[in-house]
Amino acid sequence: MSQDQTAFDLLVVGGGVAGITTAIEAAEAGLTVALVEKEASLGGRVSRFHHYFPKLCPPSCGLEINFRRLRSNTNVKVFTLASIEKIEGDAPSIQATVKIKPRYTKPVSFDYTAWAESCPVEFEDDFNYGMNSRKGVFYPWENAYPPQWMVDERAIGNAEFEEWAKSDPAGGIDLTQAEETVVLTAKSVAWATGWKPYDPTNLTELGFGSSPDILTNVMFERLSAPNGPTGGKLEAPSGKEVKRIAFVQCAGSRDENHLPFCSGVCCAASLKQATYVRDKLPEADIHMFYIDVRTPGRLEDFYQDRQEDEKINLHRGKVAKVETVGDGLQVTAENTLTGDLEQVTVDLVVLATGMQPTAAVEKLPFNANLDENGFFIQDDEASAHYGVGTAVRPSGVAETLQDATGAAIKALQMARRS
Ligand SMILES: Cc1cc2nc3c(=O)[nH]c(=O)nc-3n(C[C@H](O)[C@H](O)[C@H](O)COP(=O)(O)OP(=O)(O)OC[C@H]3O[C@@H](n4cnc5c(N)ncnc54)[C@H](O)[C@@H]3O)c2cc1C
Repeated sequence: MSQDQTAFDLLVVGGGVAGITTAIEAAEAGLTVALVEKEASLGGRVSRFHHYFPKLCPPSCGLEINFRRLRSNTNVKVFTLASIEKIEGDAPSIQATVKIKPRYTKPVSFDYTAWAESCPVEFEDDFNYGMNSRKGVFYPWENAYPPQWMVDERAIGNAEFEEWAKSDPAGGIDLTQAEETVVLTAKSVAWATGWKPYDPTNLTELGFGSSPDILTNVMFERLSAPNGPTGGKLEAPSGKEVKRIAFVQCAGSRDENHLPFCSGVCCAASLKQATYVRDKLPEADIHMFYIDVRTPGRLEDFYQDRQEDEKINLHRGKVAKVETVGDGLQVTAENTLTGDLEQVTVDLVVLATGMQPTAAVEKLPFNANLDENGFFIQDDEASAHYGVGTAVRPSGVAETLQDATGAAIKALQMARRS
């Protein structure tokens, strides 16, 4: 690392698999790198999965290796709870003003689990997409990087909480911490800002919000995960026993009124989630409604295996409506070849919503070259700002990692040019 702790060869914005990989590959090739992540921990969306394909292993299996590489590489400086406020200047001296939120804790090696249980305030748990609440003092997730407890900012100013916090048994809580601003300089910037699940409340006909048992695919990942809101027990949020479950493909995708593109991974994600159901509720019937199943490359085998499973019923049909009928959820679909209507009543519905680039929903602090859907356009070889991973196109982890290696090469070129 250079003597100047604010001057870097590369600034990476976003600490999901794309950003982490870009940072580590560039650092291992000798560049100094600042990695800026707005959440409390690195890992992005993948850290919230139960398992991920193709190996169907938990997120820790891929992320932990990269966290180890990060820990042992002094070329990378990681900023979490950090967001870019302003970008000024051009290569080779781009200045980024970074705002860093307080964590309200110091790094102490103490397990606060038992003490945190007595915390008098709780807030909606955004890691679990609001499906449960969590205490005002919490650990982001078990493999969190950095591995540090934190205080929910919504607890600050609550007199009861602040009084309780004085009983801190290890001296790690520090409610005096304040927001900081640092200015970093870099020779180029890799925007690895990733994706967000398409907002299901836009899909009124699919009933999201009308029943607690209509979920999105990302919520279903949390519902299935052992560190999720139910401890991994697959149950309907209403408490109802799940005997039948429907996966609604292309919920808002390939639709001019919503996301006109195909996210490319949702079919494989639902087939993966069908395996969670098979493991946890072997008697449950699974219905998957699709326009056509898209499982490119090696994922085709995965699809074929699922087709042979007698509990998985694949229905060709675009779902027109999901509604509560009696004590079930009725799914109405129109066969896209014959035009026939089909209805199935289930206990739980999972909407396979697509991946919308974050830049489409959250304005970036510079005039980025984006397409009409908010993905980065990479047509200027000389540009010192470039997208990486799902900020450029929807993709699975394997393609995202390849893209990140390409971005690290680009960063090397930009650093050498200066
Ligand atoms: C339901 C579902 C299941 C999936 N399952 C699989 C699977 O099993 N296997 C597989 O290979 N792929 C799967 N995928 C795809 C996978 O999620 C993506 O490939 C992966 O998340 C891409 O990583 P990323 O780093 O590009 O984006 P992200 O994971 O979105 O990470 C982006 C990071 O950038 C941060 N960020 C955003 N904006 C800013 C900012 N302005 N400043 C600082 N930080 C910022 C975010 O907080 C986040 O940490 C699935 C997708 C869906 C929809």
